[in-house]
Amino acid sequence: PPYPYKMEGKVISGFGRGSKELGIPTANLPVDNAPWIANVPSGIYFGWASLALPADHPDRPPQDDSSSLAVFPMVMSIGYNPFYKNTVRSAEVHILHSFARDFYDAHMRLLILGFIREEKDYDSLEALIQDINFDCEVARKSLEREAWRWDKGRKEDAEWF
Ligand code: ADP
Ligand code: MG
Repeated sequence: PPYPYKMEGKVISGFGRGSKELGIPTANLPVDNAPWIANVPSGIYFGWASLALPADHPDRPPQDDSSSLAVFPMVMSIGYNPFYKNTVRSAEVHILHSFARDFYDAHMRLLILGFIREEKDYDSLEALIQDINFDCEVARKSLEREAWRWDKGRKEDAEWF
């Protein structure tokens, strides 16, 4: 299917594989309501995430600023979940923002705009982290371009948020 891909849902617990310890926490989303996910390559994608944060969450935009949706750049992985013997897809999103607090249960909407690379196996943790950091750079730079800005080139898609 053509870009953008969209999916939404409540942030659920992942597998506690320690992504947070690596400095790369990934918010996991259920994939049931995203049928397109079965038909795309496994790998790393980039796009925008909107979050409905609770009223007392420190990263929530000021309430009186109606224009300030909590929309963040993100990089995500779509892949087969080893836990379910490689039959079920999983989707995990690393938001390019430093959060003061977790946001499990928050409703998240994704606008997925492009593909960065395929999944890879790694010999070392250092190599993995290096690639992820590079993916974050690629995502950040790409999303700065006018055509991929949610409030500029993607204004129509942004209604999704
Ligand atoms: P889990 O295995 O439960 O997914 P992680 O170590 O991957 O645990 O941490 C993910 C959680 O961390 C998210 O559900 C979210 O609440 C929180 N979090 C904090 N900062 C971020 C971020 N920048 N991107 C994604 N999740 C974040
Ligand atoms: Mg995770």
